[in-house]
Amino acid sequence: MKPAPFEYCAPTSLDEAIDVLARHGDAAKVLAGGQSLVPMLNMRLVRPSVLISLRHVPALDDVAVTGGWARIGGMARQRAVEEDPAVRQVCPLLTEALGLVAHPAIRNQGTIGGSVVHAGPLRRPPNRTSCSRKWRSGPSVPRVSRRGGPWKR
Ligand SMILES: Cc1cc2nc3c(=O)[nH]c(=O)nc-3n(C[C@H](O)[C@H](O)[C@H](O)COP(=O)(O)OP(=O)(O)OC[C@H]3O[C@@H](n4cnc5c(N)ncnc54)[C@H](O)[C@@H]3O)c2cc1C
Repeated sequence: MKPAPFEYCAPTSLDEAIDVLARHGDAAKVLAGGQSLVPMLNMRLVRPSVLISLRHVPALDDVAVTGGWARIGGMARQRAVEEDPAVRQVCPLLTEALGLVAHPAIRNQGTIGGSVVHAGPLRRPPNRTSCSRKWRSGPSVPRVSRRGGPWKR
């Protein structure tokens, strides 16, 4: 099947992305690696009228490890995080878990943010965001607890 028609936006800054999201609200969907969203579009399980790609927004894929904390951008590719030696040092469980996600071709495209937001029932590891106190998500990734309320540290 093919997706239902949608308008495609490719913002080149975070401000622009937030502005487009604010204008379109629930009618819009954010596109990250597309590994889960594109099949859902093709099967018409979701029908956004606007698709906002984050691929051209700079710095959302940053991975930084400082003071024993890993700060991982929402657009960081799963494979890049998996292969980051500094992340392995402060958060080895995350490294191991990412190695179990699908296969390298999927992980080269799939992002950390997409995986957290999509929250598929078979996601590996199921509680990646809560399994380590060293985890923080970026501003574009909503933080919610497993009960659905705001996530608190
Ligand atoms: C064949 C196959 C096997 C897989 N096997 C596994 C597996 O074993 N374990 C596992 O955990 N996953 C698996 N996945 C899923 C894979 O990890 C996906 O990459 C991931 O779930 C979604 O990441 P994405 O970057 O592709 O997000 P997309 O598909 O682009 O987006 C997914 C959802 O998140 C939203 N979103 C994405 N980024 C953001 C953001 N920054 N802010 C707000 N919303 C956002 C999108 O709007 C969409 O609703 C598999 C996928 C495939 C195709």
